[in-house]
Amino acid sequence: MEREALLAALRLQIEWGADDALEELPLDRLAAPAAARIAAEAGDLAALKAAIAAADSPLRDTATNLVFSDGVPESGLMMVGEAPGADEDRQGRPFVGVSGQFLDRMLASIGLTRERDFYVTNILPWRPPGNRTPTDAEITLFLPFVLRHIALVRPRHVVLLGGVSAKTLLRARDGITRLRGRWHQLVIEEGGEALPALATLHPAYLLRNQAAKRDAWSDLILLRRTLDGEVTAG
Ligand code: URA
Repeated sequence: MEREALLAALRLQIEWGADDALEELPLDRLAAPAAARIAAEAGDLAALKAAIAAADSPLRDTATNLVFSDGVPESGLMMVGEAPGADEDRQGRPFVGVSGQFLDRMLASIGLTRERDFYVTNILPWRPPGNRTPTDAEITLFLPFVLRHIALVRPRHVVLLGGVSAKTLLRARDGITRLRGRWHQLVIEEGGEALPALATLHPAYLLRNQAAKRDAWSDLILLRRTLDGEVTAG
């Protein structure tokens, strides 16, 4: 584009009210409030899944399947990961690839199985192309759906798997190494009751960093002892 044409386009943006250039890609600031309204209207998990499937997102165009959840919603324990990978996208279920199988093995070591003892979802319901890290705009768009998901499931305990999940849901600046290993208060609705949420390392990170498994093991022990009522969450 010629300089004059670019300047004219810029003037038009300013006329329309744009006053900041913060992101490389345009951000639809109305999308997140709309998502919050739509999510709040979902009265059960089936309605929430349908609402997510209908929500407009570039991620939906590149993904194959919606990845909503797996496991037992009534179990009282809900895990929240980051985003689906290639295997999850193919099967439409969270944590079914290599890191998911590792997650299942870790949880089995403290006596928990997906078929009976926990429920699992992700911050993003669609696979980001090439498994890239979710952008802030994608997280902001889907956060109301995740919060509604947790509110509908009403777990007694939540486990946040990895930095994206922990930082997003705890609205924290600290990284996962500071957040992990203790129970936090997870606020789902403004003014609502907080849920106990344990932040821990992501299984994919553990597969790359053998030394971190010791920390993950101590988090699992904390989870087990809390579920057994030996320690209180929080
Ligand atoms: N990693 C995640 O965070 N979620 C999945 O479902 C799979 C891998």
